[in-house]
Amino acid sequence: ALKSLGVGIGDPVATLAFNDHRHLDAYLAVPCLGGAIHPVNTRWSDDEIVSVLARTRDRVMLLDARLADRVDSLLPRCPWIEHVIGLGWSPPGIEGITSHHHDELLAAAKPMLAWPELDETSAMALCSTSGTTGGPKTVAYTHRSTCLQTMALGLTDCMRLSGRDTLLAIVPMFHALGWCLPYAAAMLGTRLVLPHRDLSAARLLDLVSKHRVTTAAAVPTIWNAVLAALDAEPQRWDVSSVDRIVSGGAAPTASMIRGFRDRYGIEVIHSWGMTEINPVGTMSPAVTTREEAAMDPDQRIEHQSVAGRPLPGLTLEVEDEQGRPVPTDGRSTGRLLVSGWWVADGYLHEHPETDRFREDGRLETGDVASIDDRGRMTIRDREKDLVKSGGEWISSLELDRAIGDLPEVMAAAVVARPDEKWGERPVAFVTLAPGASLDLETVRIALASKFQTWQMPDDLHPVKTMPLTSTGKIDKKALRAKMNDMTDS
Ligand code: AMP
Repeated sequence: ALKSLGVGIGDPVATLAFNDHRHLDAYLAVPCLGGAIHPVNTRWSDDEIVSVLARTRDRVMLLDARLADRVDSLLPRCPWIEHVIGLGWSPPGIEGITSHHHDELLAAAKPMLAWPELDETSAMALCSTSGTTGGPKTVAYTHRSTCLQTMALGLTDCMRLSGRDTLLAIVPMFHALGWCLPYAAAMLGTRLVLPHRDLSAARLLDLVSKHRVTTAAAVPTIWNAVLAALDAEPQRWDVSSVDRIVSGGAAPTASMIRGFRDRYGIEVIHSWGMTEINPVGTMSPAVTTREEAAMDPDQRIEHQSVAGRPLPGLTLEVEDEQGRPVPTDGRSTGRLLVSGWWVADGYLHEHPETDRFREDGRLETGDVASIDDRGRMTIRDREKDLVKSGGEWISSLELDRAIGDLPEVMAAAVVARPDEKWGERPVAFVTLAPGASLDLETVRIALASKFQTWQMPDDLHPVKTMPLTSTGKIDKKALRAKMNDMTDS
């Protein structure tokens, strides 16, 4: 069907869609045809989407019926689009664009008898991540890089995925190619459950019970909500089929890892990755070595809280401000670099952050990390989120996790507030558990064993809901803006 619309080798095909079977078909069909699947984040504004598509100039777009309101606001601003294919519906006509119903287009198409020979280093997908400067940045995933990433995801000590699993793929297919899990599932014969648009905790738990899900992957914000829903109504859902879940894209708290394990027998596999690396970098299951098998339950929670070892094929390094390697003692922190088989070699278009890709193939991740003597990496912070107080760095992420572990707290995020005397001071935002209350003094007492007084937040602001980014992570940029508004007023 796509071929009949003129899609061929090298052509990007945009999707504005949720996780469903038609989207999955396109994930497989477009690369096999030699094109590049280009899943666009449905949560972006029209301006952000136009800024990405204006560079990639996709001629064909697949559009979900639930995004019908985008037709009038978005499509007239994309004159390069010639065909829009409605997933399960017929989009209304727009001047200059031919509209198709996906199912009718498929029914009319002839089977392809021969597949094209493709260069393994050609693009099979385009993925964009929202930038902090200069708008979204786009990278190409090649057939080679995605194939290698997919093979690595199938390794036993990664997430133990197999043809006996039923995987609930919660991570949106527009977020870094759904972490390549749709491909890993296709390769292994894993049964896939695709949740479409509604990612509320109750809906996800309904799917888990109904389809006897054994494993699932999502960002910690989703897992916190799922755990809270389970705790509120422990009898409502049957989660006995679930063996392990993957939490990636942001740091999980130890209390979340412990809660799933101790109350529901579910292992949380911590994962770190980024769009620029196709995208999974570490997967850290609870036990991969004899030494880890001997850990006591508390040690194991600590072990699962670190991002872990890189997947085979990747190298992680940490360097100081002079570019020297820092000691691998698990304490010394510095700039995290990553290189290897599925690390992109640059953004597709000029971008202010292009120089993060070094000529020697190493990528400056923008993360601050440490590595221990067993090769396990811990993310300490985003470089831009560190708080510099009196010339000393304070990790906002470590405070987020420590405050997030308090029983009164559902989610916590610490940001820097400009300060005349110290340069910057940490300020905490929290959402509280139902019926809970918390004051700054209680937080400071609870943190006293782990943090020095000067490292603790100066203020505590309860908020009803945490602002989230388009990929479901806590949005510290929005919290900084909120704090500035509060300071101004
Ligand atoms: P994105 O490409 O939008 O998914 O963002 C990638 C960034 O998310 C990384 O560079 C990290 O800053 C952050 N991130 C991903 N996984 C983790 C994790 N397990 N812990 C802490 N931060 C993470």
